[in-house]
Amino acid sequence: MAKIIKQKEGFVKFLGTAGARFVMIGQLRASGGIWISYKGTNILVDPGPGSIVRCSAARPKLNPAKLDGIILTHKHLDHANDINVMIEAMTEGGFKKRGVVFCPADAINEDSIILKYARNFPARIDMLKAEHDYKVGGVSFATSMRHLHTA
Ligand SMILES: [Zn+2]
Repeated sequence: MAKIIKQKEGFVKFLGTAGARFVMIGQLRASGGIWISYKGTNILVDPGPGSIVRCSAARPKLNPAKLDGIILTHKHLDHANDINVMIEAMTEGGFKKRGVVFCPADAINEDSIILKYARNFPARIDMLKAEHDYKVGGVSFATSMRHLHTA
């Protein structure tokens, strides 16, 4: 079961730690990604299958409408399956243009995993580049060198 590490300034909640196709397909471990909350900024990393369900099942419940950003490391389904539903949830069905989606360019440009209609919902989409710094709310993060990670 997901465990919460709570501190005064924030927490990290694992909504799933599944990696690789068969662990995800069998749900041997859940695959909902990682919710990071720090000083009022909420970020979801890699919303794999079941991310929305895990948010709802979490105690206390995690409200995706409070997300400031979603980081997609790459578009394999164990990391990205719920990206569209989480974009919808972050933007309250697309009615509130808010939040930032960070993703590699191929998540949009090649065999896109982010549906066209959902691309208009976030305040912006930032294409991740290797060895670059990013900021969302009060949180900064940096990308590493590009990894070659094929299907
Ligand atoms: Zn992968």
